[in-house]
Amino acid sequence: MKITKLVRTFLSQNPWMRNCRNLRSGAVKESVDCVVIGAGVVGIAVARELSLNYGRNVLVIESDSSFGTGSSSRNSQVIHGGIYYPPASLKGRFCVRGRRLLYEYCKQHGIPHKQIGKLIVATRHEEVPKLSYLLNRGNENGVEGLRMMEASEAMAMEPHLQCIRALWSPTSGIIDSHSLMLSLLVSDVTTFCLVNNTRM
Ligand SMILES: Cc1cc2nc3c(=O)[nH]c(=O)nc-3n(C[C@H](O)[C@H](O)[C@H](O)COP(=O)(O)OP(=O)(O)OC[C@H]3O[C@@H](n4cnc5c(N)ncnc54)[C@H](O)[C@@H]3O)c2cc1C
Repeated sequence: MKITKLVRTFLSQNPWMRNCRNLRSGAVKESVDCVVIGAGVVGIAVARELSLNYGRNVLVIESDSSFGTGSSSRNSQVIHGGIYYPPASLKGRFCVRGRRLLYEYCKQHGIPHKQIGKLIVATRHEEVPKLSYLLNRGNENGVEGLRMMEASEAMAMEPHLQCIRALWSPTSGIIDSHSLMLSLLVSDVTTFCLVNNTRM
C-alpha cells in the first residue's frame, strides 16, 4: 500500500513518465539532457542527483523489467565502514564519505537501517596481524572509532562467537536496499524517467 502511494506520487510529480510511453511506443518526441544506462542503485542515484541538483532531464534505460534487479537487490545490505580499500584510493574515499551521506539520507527519508557495528574476528593466532593491518588501514582511511578488542569483550557482545581477538567497527551497519532504491526513485521532485525492458 505504501509503495503504491509512493509510486502514484512519483507519477504525479513526473510528467516525464508520459514521455517514457512515447519512447516505448517508438514515437520519440522529446529530447533529454542525459542518459543513464542501468537502473541499479548507482544509476538511480546518479540520475536523481543530475535531476534534483543539476536541473537536468534524465532518461534511465534498464534492460530488465524493473529497477534494481541486479547486484543492488542481491547483496548483503551492509553499510560498510570503509576499512578495506587502499588509502587515498577513490574507493577508500568514497566509501567513508558515502557511508556518512548514506546514514544522513536514511534518517532524512525514513529508510530502514541500523548502525549495529561490525566485529572482524581472528579465530587463530596467525590471523591477529591481519586485524592490526586492517586497523591501520581503516585509520588511514579516516574510519571513525575502530579499536581492537580482547576475545572476552567480543564474546560478551556476541555470545555464540568463538575468537581470540576482534576488531570493532562501530560505524558499520545494515540497510534495506530495496527501500533505498525506491526512495531514490520516488522521493523529492525530480525530472528523470525510467524505461524498462530496453537494452543499450
Ligand atoms: C554477493 C554480493 C554482496 C554484496 N554486498 C554488498 C554490501 O553488503 N554492501 C554494499 O555496499 N555493496 C555490496 N555489494 C556491492 C553492491 O551490490 C554493488 O556495488 C552495487 O549493487 C552496484 O550497483 P550498480 O547500480 O552499479 O549495479 P547493478 O545493481 O548491477 O545495476 C546495473 C543495472 O544495469 C542494467 N544493465 C546492464 N547492462 C545494461 C544495458 N546494456 N542496457 C540497459 N541496462 C543494463 C542491469 O540490468 C542492472 O539493473 C555486494 C555485491 C555482491 C555481488
